[in-house]
Amino acid sequence: METRSKNLRTGRSVWQAGRAPGVPHRPLHRDIDTDVLIIGAGITGAMVADALSASGWKVVLVDRRGPAKGSTTASTALVQYEIDTPLVKLSRKIGEADAIRAFRRSRLAVDALAARLGELGVALQRRDTLYLAGNILDADGLRRECEARHVAGLACRMVRRGELRDMGIRASAGLMGYGDFTIDPRAAACALLNAAVENGAAIYAPVGIVDIAHTKTTVSAQTSTGHRIRAKHVVFATGYEFPKRVPQHGHQIISTWAIATVPQKRKLWPGEAMIWQSADPYLYVRTTADGRVICGGEDEESLDEAERDALIGRKTRTLQRKLGQLLPGIDTRADFAWAGSFGQTDTGLPMIGQLPRMPNGWAALGYGGNGTTYSRIAAEIIAGALNGRPVVDADLYRFRR
Ligand SMILES: Cc1cc2nc3c(=O)[nH]c(=O)nc-3n(C[C@H](O)[C@H](O)[C@H](O)COP(=O)(O)OP(=O)(O)OC[C@H]3O[C@@H](n4cnc5c(N)ncnc54)[C@H](O)[C@@H]3O)c2cc1C
Repeated sequence: METRSKNLRTGRSVWQAGRAPGVPHRPLHRDIDTDVLIIGAGITGAMVADALSASGWKVVLVDRRGPAKGSTTASTALVQYEIDTPLVKLSRKIGEADAIRAFRRSRLAVDALAARLGELGVALQRRDTLYLAGNILDADGLRRECEARHVAGLACRMVRRGELRDMGIRASAGLMGYGDFTIDPRAAACALLNAAVENGAAIYAPVGIVDIAHTKTTVSAQTSTGHRIRAKHVVFATGYEFPKRVPQHGHQIISTWAIATVPQKRKLWPGEAMIWQSADPYLYVRTTADGRVICGGEDEESLDEAERDALIGRKTRTLQRKLGQLLPGIDTRADFAWAGSFGQTDTGLPMIGQLPRMPNGWAALGYGGNGTTYSRIAAEIIAGALNGRPVVDADLYRFRR
């Protein structure tokens, strides 16, 4: 296989309560030609297909599972500009100027994605993000983070213990950032895929890509059904299933867990800001449109998929206990519990761009908690490059040899 198939998620995520929106797709029974082949019909492939098909490219998407059936359906879909690595720490790792550029680029991507989803009629909830003090950044650390974000031109403010208490949140200090949002990730991916199909894109599934040969100007992908797809460009949007030819730059696949509580609109905190702890292990919290509380975290490194799935019961109880400590007014009874593969990099930045030694090969991989924001940045970078436009900030995410 061009990518090793994994058990990407188990349990039942809150998005699976209803039926997935329909996305036209079919099996592949012949050899075909296209301009761009996108491998992976999750939210990343959907955004890239939307951007490329809108600018006139003939696009084919393939997926060995089906539209939005990979980790996209497990995402808790907090769409934030705040990167997993705080600005003060990212500045130490990659330099202040680049760290500021990365934060600003994410800020722009969140707004651009909100605008595009709005055009498509996808329901999204604009939310602020409350970053709570923990063992990574304590209250003083958050104050430094606040100053660093102000230098970068990013609005935020410190929130004291008393104000948090009035909101029903138990923590010593917080940093409020503005203008993020939450979505149903499966619905968003399907809307973007349908927009691409309306622009002429074709989706073939279930179809796996088992091998790829390439020259300087073409790629030829062999499918699990024994057919060939010839294209001018290939884009790997394969999520946490890494292609064998892609350098991983310290990216690690880890395991993560999430729950969604019973609906409880009357018990939610004012403003329903997304909550995210600056801690390891960390906890994050958001609400859904129907008043549930989603709580996730408890990440663990290097667990195999069977071990990860066996832990769903125990991790659910831990998440419920910690959620109850953080938000004592919340009913922690869980209607949904699920687990998934997840990623992390040293910097919190993903890998996006042209592949080394494969001029017509592109990839968007290596996501941690900001996957959705990075999917949007990937679509902007890849569509910009293929359309021959200067691509600002691409150097922040590029693959290195
Ligand atoms: C529990 C959990 C919570 C998360 N919370 C958040 C969050 O709050 N915010 C956020 O932004 N992100 C979050 N994420 C991360 C987010 O889920 C990912 O960033 C996102 O799903 C990645 O989308 P994708 O399209 O790249 O991958 P996927 O949705 O996995 O799609 C990749 C597709 O590629 C296909 N594929 C792979 N190899 C091949 C092949 N050889 N041939 C054909 N098809 C292939 C797969 O079948 C799959 O459908 C979370 C993830 C998990 C597990």
